[in-house]
Amino acid sequence: MPSPLPTLFVSHGAPTLVTDPVPTREFLRGLAGLLPRPRAILCVSAHWDTSAPRLGSAAQPHTMHDFYGFPDPLYEMIYPAPGAPVLAGRAAALLSGALAPAALDEGRGLDHGAWVPLSLMFPLADIPVAQLSIQSRLSPAHHLELGRALAPLREEGVLIMASGNATHNLREVFSHGMDDPPAPYASEFAHWLTGRVQAGDADALADYLRRGPNGPKNHPTADHYLPLMVAAGAGGGQGRLLHDGYTFGVLSMAAYAWG
Ligand code: ZN
Repeated sequence: MPSPLPTLFVSHGAPTLVTDPVPTREFLRGLAGLLPRPRAILCVSAHWDTSAPRLGSAAQPHTMHDFYGFPDPLYEMIYPAPGAPVLAGRAAALLSGALAPAALDEGRGLDHGAWVPLSLMFPLADIPVAQLSIQSRLSPAHHLELGRALAPLREEGVLIMASGNATHNLREVFSHGMDDPPAPYASEFAHWLTGRVQAGDADALADYLRRGPNGPKNHPTADHYLPLMVAAGAGGGQGRLLHDGYTFGVLSMAAYAWG
């Protein structure tokens, strides 16, 4: 019996991560080499937000260019990985059994929260991918439970990969240069986050807005944080820091693994 796959949380930054010569891009290009090869990938992205869990079940998901004002070549990129409709159905059954009904969505493609890191990690696009939505109107604890319900997939060769940002104050991105040193309010939160991930402190992670230094300033909206809760729930216990760094001074690009 193969050992369970780890779960991942990666920070995806701006779509230009796919072409910018920055350390996080190099980290993602090497990340797959640190893992057993997955049979399929279940990606939880910050950029699919629904009122109840949904799973993309297209046989061939299209590449979504769900961003505005970026260089033209980004809109021509495609990530042609096959879909994973059987995995989507299996995940929906696990979630429906443990939590609340989860629906399949055959028309959903891969948003940039999924394909930007995946195209760096698995450039051959030969591993099937299904996406799971977040529910930003529901609690961090709900997302932890989503992850816990999905944990059996790790034993089935599925890589559960969450994609968001360790800190994500978009309003302040535009007042910084790409290579600016980290703003103290962002690095303090990221440092706290890493400590709580390493401690396996799920209660603190779920209470990030109050317990994390400048929680609301680092995450004015929950969307880029909640994927981390899914990865933590599916991984269980203590996580580890895989990568650290900043872009635009206020976006921590931290990545973590559990298991
Ligand atoms: Zn994003």
